[in-house]
Amino acid sequence: MHEMSLALNIVELVAAKAEAAGAERVSEVEIEVGALAGVMAEALAFCFAAAARDTPVEGARLLMRELAGQAKCLACSHCFPVDSLLGQCPECGAYATELIRGRELRVVSLVVDE
Ligand SMILES: [Zn+2]
Repeated sequence: MHEMSLALNIVELVAAKAEAAGAERVSEVEIEVGALAGVMAEALAFCFAAAARDTPVEGARLLMRELAGQAKCLACSHCFPVDSLLGQCPECGAYATELIRGRELRVVSLVVDE
């Protein structure tokens, strides 16, 4: 499952950061998920809880912030919001667009217990 490998990556990253900070427990993890990343929030939350078991991240709250998609037209350089991978430029009608935001998934911050 796609979400499971993402969750494992997040837990691994967060656990490493917590360890580097000398923290024993992570209580909260905030991530940004692009609207077009193809991630199901519920599935990711479920997998995160499972992946965190027996790690310093176990029981941490997962806050997900959704990033709206944005594309740039390759013909006229206009930037516009998109909700699918096949965006059409609203300015010139071109389909030659580049997605500049919306597929990312990254850890923004974490809260640790000292
Ligand atoms: Zn355009």
